[in-house]
Amino acid sequence: MTAWAGVELPHDTQARYQAWLAGGRQAEMAYLSQNLSTRLNPSSRLSWARSVLVLAVPHAYPPPQRPPGGIRLGRVARYAWVRDYHLLLQPYLQDLERLAQSLGLRAKGYVDTGPLSERSYAALGGLGWIGRNAMLMRMGEGTYLTLAVLLTSLPAPVEQALYPNRCGTCRRCVAGCPTGALLGDGTLDSRRCISYWTIEHRGLIPPSMWEGIGDWLFGCDICQEVCPWNRKARAFWQGFVPEPELAYPNLEDFFYLSSKAFERKYAGTVFLRPGRTRMARNALVVLANLGNPDYLPLVCQGARDVNPLVRATAAEALARLGDLDSVIPLLQDPEPSVAGVARALLGGH
Ligand code: SF4
Ligand code: SF4
Repeated sequence: MTAWAGVELPHDTQARYQAWLAGGRQAEMAYLSQNLSTRLNPSSRLSWARSVLVLAVPHAYPPPQRPPGGIRLGRVARYAWVRDYHLLLQPYLQDLERLAQSLGLRAKGYVDTGPLSERSYAALGGLGWIGRNAMLMRMGEGTYLTLAVLLTSLPAPVEQALYPNRCGTCRRCVAGCPTGALLGDGTLDSRRCISYWTIEHRGLIPPSMWEGIGDWLFGCDICQEVCPWNRKARAFWQGFVPEPELAYPNLEDFFYLSSKAFERKYAGTVFLRPGRTRMARNALVVLANLGNPDYLPLVCQGARDVNPLVRATAAEALARLGDLDSVIPLLQDPEPSVAGVARALLGGH
């Protein structure tokens, strides 16, 4: 599915985005506030850009079979069950760039990589509406859509009819979000979103967020799963092939593989964005939240990890699992921040 919109975002969309930034709702994702003038009007940097072609690729594929063996706990957001969508879609955008050039036009494609508000262009082009869960959605495909955009030198289309907003009085996503990240008017506060903490955030996950994260290992789909418009969504592009090892990764990989071996095993997947250490961090949060002492050996392995972020997170996880004895060695950790976490946890003991 495609939509076509003028390159300059309307003033109300610009103002809304700027207010979102001013409220700090982008959390530590500094790239969202960089190149602001380009984001609001790409022609300020690419003077030839006149319009934006938006491509929406459905990804409502079914889950693959759970593979045998390993410790396969925690949930992974649907979009990550397949190879990295950036890599899968980029060749098609390059084909479109070449096609545009052959027609004497200029064009540049982005799959979530440029400073562009893909969702806003999709809504302005009449492709769907932005729901209370802050996502672009359509009646048939729901929210399971991957967006890519092509900036073009073609003059902007005449004004498009907007897709009617079908959220009505529904607030299921707002009520279902376990961490209160949705404000109810289509605004997402990244500082409270599980997807932000498990994918984008680089450091320790604050203890106050742990419980809300539940068993989400990578991302979160709750505000999509509860949406009535997603109940019947089944469409997906055949180039998206869900893989068991991505939908149900073995948590042991994050503790026992070297970073190099992790990169080899998960090459071409979005797990490379957080990388081994942050996947291990996320796994520790999940294991602590599940509260099953059978997995203490894996948490103890985290306390011996080469990376201080993993060791500090393991200290918190051990404390939550009631194994304070295993936190004691971390008081001598060569990394002051890890020893500090251990001290704070053992303070009263
Ligand atoms: S992805 Fe999860 S945490 Fe983020 S807004 Fe949706 S339900 Fe809330
Ligand atoms: S759950 Fe309800 S309010 Fe939320 S996006 Fe879906 S229809 Fe809109």
